[in-house]
Amino acid sequence: MKKVHNFTAGPCILPQEAIDKTIEALKDFKGTGVPVISISHRTKEWEGVMDECRSLWRELLNIPDDYEILFLPGGASMGFLYVAMNFLNTKAAYLETGVWAKKALKEAKGIGEAYAIASSADKTYSYIPKGYEIPDDIDYLHITTNNTIYGTEIAYDIDSPVPLIADMSSDIMSRPVDVSKYAMIYGGAQKNVGPAGVAFAIVKKDLLGKVSRYIPTMLDLRTHIDGKSMFNTPPVFAIFVMNETLKWLKSIGGVEAINKINKEKAALLYGEIDRNPLFVGTAAKEDRSIMNVCFVMAPGYEDLQDEFMAFAKERGMIGIKGHRSVGGFRASIYNACPIESVQALVDCMREFEQLKK
Ligand SMILES: *Cc1c(COP(=O)(O)O)cnc(C)c1O
Repeated sequence: MKKVHNFTAGPCILPQEAIDKTIEALKDFKGTGVPVISISHRTKEWEGVMDECRSLWRELLNIPDDYEILFLPGGASMGFLYVAMNFLNTKAAYLETGVWAKKALKEAKGIGEAYAIASSADKTYSYIPKGYEIPDDIDYLHITTNNTIYGTEIAYDIDSPVPLIADMSSDIMSRPVDVSKYAMIYGGAQKNVGPAGVAFAIVKKDLLGKVSRYIPTMLDLRTHIDGKSMFNTPPVFAIFVMNETLKWLKSIGGVEAINKINKEKAALLYGEIDRNPLFVGTAAKEDRSIMNVCFVMAPGYEDLQDEFMAFAKERGMIGIKGHRSVGGFRASIYNACPIESVQALVDCMREFEQLKK
């Protein structure tokens, strides 16, 4: 197979161990003689995977007992609706830190009263707004902890006087999280914990059932709690790969260990961006994401963009094109991205600098 360095924003790079296990299971799932994509979700072998996966989530993120772990359909985008449907009674506030946050807010506005408490739209979402006051008359505050497109991150657990709900699609399992500070944490699996096709949610159970509206069955989180995420046919394949991905994460020391490595990877790449006169980072330094690193050609070198893209591609770099709404470059250095790949990108930037000096 061709050797590449995969920096794609999602679906993400996954650990080779998880992929190898998946290939085996596609031939024969747990000795059943059936490939995992054809296994009945009502078998005890499958239920074993569901149980194991839930336990791994609980263990890796230290999730307290009064929280449920759910595997849901519809990706993070459906999550926007789950949030509003299940938690919005009178009023909700959203921290508008990017397009995903804005989309989450849009869904809430369709259901009740919702507004942006602060926004960084004035500077193309290149920073995290600070100094806003969280009112106490709202049902919840919604945040997007990692802004995948702009490379900014709220890499700490904020204190909120009202229930806090977070879209953690692109930084889940990249750092330890104090789950007890949140009413709900959710996201699509395909940025850091698995393939596309399944979303996750960590929900504080006793906060549900407080809205007065009718909630359609599939959008009611209690349906999925009662059905243990198998109210209807779950995406068995996606959940299988997620489980293997979490097993890998546990085997290398869990979230604390990966956080250390993630920080090293990010420091390596940001260090080069700051040193290399050809490039400049786009996110405010204090808000830089350790998952998505966004940069552009420095002023005066803008016309070298396509050339660098081709130069990097030749050296095996994949997926470094910035999101279509911001341009430039974005290297997503999720959990499974090895530091060797980050080093290869850094070397590539240095070589390009030598060539152009
Ligand atoms: C990718 C992404 C989404 C959308 O996820 P889907 O699973 O494709 O709906 C939402 N929020 C964030 C922060 C993302 O990175």
